[in-house]
Amino acid sequence: MARYVYDFAQGGRDMAGLLGGKGSNLAEMTRLGLPVPPGFVITTEACRAFLATGGEPEGMWQEVSEHLTTVETAAGRLLGQPADPLLLSVRSGARFSMPGMMETILDIGLNDDSVLGLAKVSGSERFAWDSYRRLIQMFGSTVMGVDPALFERAIALLKDLRGAPDDVHLDTADLAQLVETYKNIIHLETGEHFPQSPAEQLRRAVLAVFQSWNGERARLYRRREHIPDDLGTAVTVQCMVFGNLGPDSGSGVAFTRDPATGRPGLYGDYLPNAQGEDVVAGIRNTVPLAELGRLDPHSYARLCEHMRTLERHYRDLCDIEFTIERGRLWMLQTRVGKRTAEAAFAIAAELADEGLITPDESLARVSGEGLARLMFPRFDTSAVGDPLAHGLPASPGAAVGAAVFDSAVAVRRAAAGENVVLVRQETTPDDLPGMIAAQAVLTSRGGKTSHAAVVARGMGKVCVCGAEELSVDIEARRFTAPDGTVVEEGTVISVDGSTGAVYPGPVPLVDSAVMRFLESGAGEEGSASAVDAVARALARADTVRRLEVRANADTPEDAARARRFGAQGIGLCRTEHMFLGERRKLVEEMILAGTDGARDRALAALLPLQREDFSGILEAMDGLPVTIRLLDPPLHEFLPDRTELAVRIAAAEARGDLPAAHDVELLSAVNRMHEENPMLGLRGVRLGLVVPGLVAMQVRAIGEAVAERTRAGCSPRAEIMVPLVGDVRELRIVREEVERVLDEVSAASGVPVSCPVGTMIELPRAALTADRIAAEAEFFSFGTNDLTQTTWGFSRDDVEAEFFSAYLDKGVFPVSPFETLDRDGVGRLVRMAVAEGRATRPDLKIGVCGEHGGDPDSVHFFHAAGLDYVSCSPFRVPVARLEAGRAAL
Ligand code: ADP
Ligand code: MG
Ligand code: MG
Repeated sequence: MARYVYDFAQGGRDMAGLLGGKGSNLAEMTRLGLPVPPGFVITTEACRAFLATGGEPEGMWQEVSEHLTTVETAAGRLLGQPADPLLLSVRSGARFSMPGMMETILDIGLNDDSVLGLAKVSGSERFAWDSYRRLIQMFGSTVMGVDPALFERAIALLKDLRGAPDDVHLDTADLAQLVETYKNIIHLETGEHFPQSPAEQLRRAVLAVFQSWNGERARLYRRREHIPDDLGTAVTVQCMVFGNLGPDSGSGVAFTRDPATGRPGLYGDYLPNAQGEDVVAGIRNTVPLAELGRLDPHSYARLCEHMRTLERHYRDLCDIEFTIERGRLWMLQTRVGKRTAEAAFAIAAELADEGLITPDESLARVSGEGLARLMFPRFDTSAVGDPLAHGLPASPGAAVGAAVFDSAVAVRRAAAGENVVLVRQETTPDDLPGMIAAQAVLTSRGGKTSHAAVVARGMGKVCVCGAEELSVDIEARRFTAPDGTVVEEGTVISVDGSTGAVYPGPVPLVDSAVMRFLESGAGEEGSASAVDAVARALARADTVRRLEVRANADTPEDAARARRFGAQGIGLCRTEHMFLGERRKLVEEMILAGTDGARDRALAALLPLQREDFSGILEAMDGLPVTIRLLDPPLHEFLPDRTELAVRIAAAEARGDLPAAHDVELLSAVNRMHEENPMLGLRGVRLGLVVPGLVAMQVRAIGEAVAERTRAGCSPRAEIMVPLVGDVRELRIVREEVERVLDEVSAASGVPVSCPVGTMIELPRAALTADRIAAEAEFFSFGTNDLTQTTWGFSRDDVEAEFFSAYLDKGVFPVSPFETLDRDGVGRLVRMAVAEGRATRPDLKIGVCGEHGGDPDSVHFFHAAGLDYVSCSPFRVPVARLEAGRAAL
């Protein structure tokens, strides 16, 4: 029979799948001998069974009550015992951390009788009634479905009436009155009474936590973080300890290092006389952790010791939640903490220096996504005035956007294409949609461990929190700065998550330090430790990776930049961009040519221009391979728009003029070439087979450029790539022409020129017949954009706007297949083509040049599939280098 409940002493951190992150880490701390209030965990398996059937699995309650007995024995108190009641917390916790996304219910076990008992044994009536009202509030909203705003309104009203600035100023009688009010609210809203039976409270709380897995904000968070929907949450049931028992009690959150910068040293927020939820909710302002050292040196010393134990045990940055009950320290949670990209690099480097982890582990701890984030620009504040205010730099980066004051407005304006900054006093999990939509989050309350800070850091979103100098008026939709400046909704502000500064208006951007380092290829004088750490991670990645990294670049400038970023060649040089601008006229002439002579003249005029293009790129990439793709897009893309032409002609006619002969000629060409499905039409290799002289001209330009560079004493390495091949015969025809032209160039120039000829694999038929195609191809390059389009039958430009969001919502795929390679479908074609291509030609060079070449997850797939290189946009080259290294670990 399945087992559904584990005591803390029976679990460990390797059981996160079953016990959730929170439960398994509580078990781990228990085994390490740290002071954890006793408790047990109901497994994610029980949750999955409950969600599938709507009922708790058989035998689960029996196990729960057995474990409860163990806990009661350990605590020396019974649940529901009126004189000295045992109180419980019922906490959610999934495999992956989802801060604040699901429910937790505290103080289970209180009722009209035991509240009196608690008052007596604790010696504090106020505390007992405060705990009771918290229970009713949490239970009422999460378990019984009452709108939490009703409770909040009631407590706000009472505070107004008493002139109390915060909860701490309500006295025992006030809180007892609040309990009555809350009970009435529940009865009015649900027709049910708040349950007095502790056993019923426990049971319903557990089921509510199960159910919160499917709550709206939990689902949204999972989609954003690509967490699977079918994991379920575990439920931790644990003895309560109390941080709200007076000034010698309190709660806090702490990190073993600064999660924003990675700097070593304890770091956190503490709130005297409070329960843990008050710290995270940002309801009252916290004090820095160091202050605890003065308030309670004994507990502080023990806390430091426990955190050292944890960091050495986990060999990573840990964050913890703790509570001090009358001078006694309790550990309530730990996990390997979320951190900014900057901190991730710095910590990985430092832990390696400290000998806690190996260089390879250090590389595994950083990510390409984080590196991309560090490459984003920063504010250039040299030319702007003073900031409006300073808050805490909670999540770094520079963001500019219109101030908005609630989640719904943020979502609406962002959907209309506007950049927005979500401004709140503090955020709650309900603000999640707005936080996702916004460029940055700005709050006037709460510490670096408040909800806003934690969630923003997890998302890599800019956040400044606790900007107390700002007075935020949500109702009036504006905030006021200390100098009297009023910022109304819609006004643009700039938020610097690295310094905590908030500026009026848009502040200009400059390159980040990491970007400057990557661009120059060298560290800077006094460069930040993050730059140094990035350099070390990239160096390690370059040592261990097997995949080469090339860039997609069409100009000498892009090629040069890519090279500075570490590209080992060009994997895709598109020639169509060379057909635009002032050359359009020549291209038009080529397309419209009525005679061979006219066409030859147009092609002959294009030849020297193309030669120059190629020469420049080969120079920038001297000594490295440059894969040049023959013309790919349908020719009509180079002609004017059909409707525009028709309108021009009609307008001339309406004026009584004769339309321009050229326009009429163009329109008939456009009509002739119109395609219903251009993506599946006359393009790629098909152009080369149908338009006489086109391939020859392009190849001649390449060949002559190579001859010219060779004569100049350089080492040009051009490769010729044929797009959209579906059958080996197409490739053979083009290849023979390439060889003929290159022979001519060699003869004429006296420089022997030969270039490898290969093909793109971007049609399913090419992948399916890769063994034959490889007979004519010296290399393959997967064009995964087209291969994704043609495998799925999706027209990328249409579907992304039209229905992808519905597909993502309904979970058809967790991420767009154009962003991350679809391993099951497209990936299968890739693997097949690799195997069959190499069976024909063992030394076949294989790469990828679609956008997937710079996507971290896809890079790992390409490594596993045995490719030789990935090629991506120049700015993604460092990301791809890093991920190629990580893939090889
Ligand atoms: P989350 O996953 O949102 O952090 P938690 O389960 O950690 O939710 O609970 C929320 C808060 O309740 C925490 O800040 C914690 O301090 C407090 N809490 C949870 N369990 C206990 C307990 N046994 N005793 C005292 N406080 C608790
Ligand atoms: Mg917590
Ligand atoms: Mg293509």
